Amino acid sequence: MAAHKVYATGIPRLFLAGLTSLGLLGSLAGLGLSSPLTAAQTKELTLYTARHYSSDDALYAAFTRQTGIKVNVISAGDQPLIERLKSEGPASPADVLLLADAARLWAAEQDGLFQAHGSNQLEKAIPADLRTQNWVGLTTRARVLIIDPKRVKTSEVLSYSDLAKPEMKGLICTRSGSHPYMLSLFGSMLVAEGSAKTEAWMRAVVANLARPPKGGDTDQIRAVASGECAVAISNSYYYARLMRSNKPADQEVVAKTKMVWPNQLKAGVHVNVSGGGIVKTAPNASHARTFLEFLAGQATQAAFAEGNNEWPVVKGIAANNPALEKLGGFKADPMPVAKFAAEQRRAQQLVDKTGWK
Ligand code: FE
Repeated sequence: MAAHKVYATGIPRLFLAGLTSLGLLGSLAGLGLSSPLTAAQTKELTLYTARHYSSDDALYAAFTRQTGIKVNVISAGDQPLIERLKSEGPASPADVLLLADAARLWAAEQDGLFQAHGSNQLEKAIPADLRTQNWVGLTTRARVLIIDPKRVKTSEVLSYSDLAKPEMKGLICTRSGSHPYMLSLFGSMLVAEGSAKTEAWMRAVVANLARPPKGGDTDQIRAVASGECAVAISNSYYYARLMRSNKPADQEVVAKTKMVWPNQLKAGVHVNVSGGGIVKTAPNASHARTFLEFLAGQATQAAFAEGNNEWPVVKGIAANNPALEKLGGFKADPMPVAKFAAEQRRAQQLVDKTGWK
């Protein structure tokens, strides 16, 4: 098994066997045994979430048992949820908004959709580089490289910069450069390297693409396995999901590919969050705060992240995920997520300019 490194930032970095998500859910259920609620006692909150995992539903149920607060879940994509909130205005029933990627959280913050969470508990539990006053990261993911080891050596793709080399011509697959996952990555480069270097890098990578950008991250991984390309950029959990899949087709994809942590000799791999905040017009703001604190709680964190093969934001949480264990430890870029998220407009301009459509 790969040795775990100790990381440079506050993201939980050691994954020790021990707690299973099932075990966690079991103990959460035990905490929350309470008598059935009558209508008059019903406390509730409305959650708008872009997360859609059945494991999340089990956690919401545990929250209700523990606090007596019922959770009305509205699931949709990130952008539709933001549009819905904007069109509903002050009449919105939404109390909590959960989104994937700091770029989207930042955009929602710019749109004035959040209020300050005002929670000491959240500030204590979650490292400062993974939150702002208005929203908090709740799980972390890394933007990694997936290679065909028969065509590309790990030593050839030690950093994102390597993707710009002439030897990579015709080998790279990515999703649209306009997607938030890409904009956040470009944003981190804008912060670290400046505009001119980032633009030159983007231009060179566009020239190296095996095909015009299309599909999601998993499509890029599959394209490496099928031989259409030899290097893909993807969020870590998509690869971990394939690793844990029972489907023979998925297992074949994993067998033909290898995941590489970029920038390990530099600042570290680009790390992003999924997270959320209290909606500006929340009818039940204090329940919303309690809910976010629950999601950031020691007992909930591992299971919450585990549901999507991510890492908890809270330090020292033990997780039991064979795929993540197998991928091993890594050095994470300590750049605050809000910092690169704030660069997304400049990043989009470079996408338009360089044709990474
Ligand atoms: Fe995703």
